[in-house]
Amino acid sequence: MIDTDTLLKQINAERMADCLWALVRTPSPTGHEQEAASVFADLLAKAGARVHMDHTLPASPSVIGRLTGRRPGPVLQLAGHLDHINIPHAPPQKDGTRISGRGSADMKNGLAGILEIVRILNETGRRFPGELLITAYGLHEAPDGDSRGLQNLLQNGVKGQAAIVFEGPCDAAAIMANGMAIWTLTVTCSEPPCHELCTQTDPFELPGIVAGIVGALRQKNQQAKEQNKTYPLLPPASFFIGQMHYGDFYNRLPGRCFMQGTRRWNPDQTFAMIQDEFRQLLNSLALPEAVSAECAWMLVGDSYAIGAEEQIVKCLQVSYERLHKKPLPVRGHSSVTDTCRFVNYGQIPAVLWGFGTDTGHADFEYVTLEQLVRSCRVALLTVLNYLAGS
Ligand SMILES: [Zn+2]
Repeated sequence: MIDTDTLLKQINAERMADCLWALVRTPSPTGHEQEAASVFADLLAKAGARVHMDHTLPASPSVIGRLTGRRPGPVLQLAGHLDHINIPHAPPQKDGTRISGRGSADMKNGLAGILEIVRILNETGRRFPGELLITAYGLHEAPDGDSRGLQNLLQNGVKGQAAIVFEGPCDAAAIMANGMAIWTLTVTCSEPPCHELCTQTDPFELPGIVAGIVGALRQKNQQAKEQNKTYPLLPPASFFIGQMHYGDFYNRLPGRCFMQGTRRWNPDQTFAMIQDEFRQLLNSLALPEAVSAECAWMLVGDSYAIGAEEQIVKCLQVSYERLHKKPLPVRGHSSVTDTCRFVNYGQIPAVLWGFGTDTGHADFEYVTLEQLVRSCRVALLTVLNYLAGS
């Protein structure tokens, strides 16, 4: 193996900027990632990997690349999503210090980091043990994306022994996250809407039921906050109501209420468990016969936790400490990322490493070249340490 200082010096800000620019100039809103997938596949092949595309999801193909070292060893997966949220953004721009545009910070910056690592390891003669498995996929960003791109790869066994997802924090090693799902509750009365003076029904029936549901959710949320002892690295589990509508006219009896919100849960619960709990909560309200409550769920990501002693976590910490001369703390991550899918569906440990994710989803999304290089140094060293089994 070439000494790591020599390899770290190969990181080239301009080359990374060129790759990021090529990716940012190719729009890839969730569900429409074909063009960005072929741009990334071309860049990955030029960087030296053996590349093929998986077209199981024709509008959102996945790119699979491999760079094999000279000796047998572990397979480390470097992963990222190709899509960005479908919210308008000013046209991409670049100057000598930063690149802006939709997807620049979430997460084409990380994809540029993957390309740089592959290029350096290939150009220096692939003198490492094991293999790098590179996967880039679409359909990540909810609600248009349902993570089918990555799930499809994991179900087909396209996975390493550990994974680094190239987005998220760059000042901590995330080892756990809360799960999150969106619930949509429709409460319906059997009597059709009519004039307020023509009804036999108590006009406060529906508002009263809805108030009962709100009160029960509020109580559950409060309990979760108070019981938050098991996972000090994570925010407490929560219930949240984001929207609520009923009625359509000032003197018509409302017949239906629509409510929607989020449910977040710690790693000691699963998506199945929290759905069951919600069902029990509704049952406990003993709704009148003429009223029905239907709840629909959309899973954004399940909760997970990996051990702080996992080798990939240790490698990330050791690499960061060597380069930044201070320890890298372990932390929980508050939002849903693909690490939950690697851990839950792929059954492999996974960590996040961001390339400047702060402006992701913002009105003005950008990343500095300085940040690209800083994050790439830690990521490259982590890759080398993991493959070397150190
Ligand atoms: Zn992202």
